[in-house]
Amino acid sequence: MVPKMHEWSLAAGIIQTVEDECRRQSITRVQSLELSVGELAQIEVDTLREALSHLKKGTAMSGSRITIRKERTRMSCRKCMHAWSFMESRKQLSPLQKGGDNAVHYLPSTVNAFITCPSCGSPDFDIVSGFGLSIMSFTADGRKRA
Ligand SMILES: [Zn+2]
Repeated sequence: MVPKMHEWSLAAGIIQTVEDECRRQSITRVQSLELSVGELAQIEVDTLREALSHLKKGTAMSGSRITIRKERTRMSCRKCMHAWSFMESRKQLSPLQKGGDNAVHYLPSTVNAFITCPSCGSPDFDIVSGFGLSIMSFTADGRKRA
């Protein structure tokens, strides 16, 4: 098993970002933080959660509640402009391609190799959402910050 460095470095990045923001806005305590993780983001949510709970100690986020939402991956065809979700495409894949129930096997960079537009069949499409990690919002000193 490869060490989960990926999730740990992402967690460190999130905490750094929030800490910077706290310093800028003179915030001393973060109450809650909402994150969004895309289906195709190749992130293990449990590992990320564990990393965050370790790394937030001693920061303004130490007592915060962290919510992690899964964001659906959506594609948009460049040819016919049809938009669809990764879930729809998964139905078309073979069991081997599906790799069980784990969307973590899919890299945004390779997804075009085995998914085509359900409307016109073109492999030329964009992934418009659900491929990364983002901070949706956080609450601090009793106020919601974007
Ligand atoms: Zn199309």
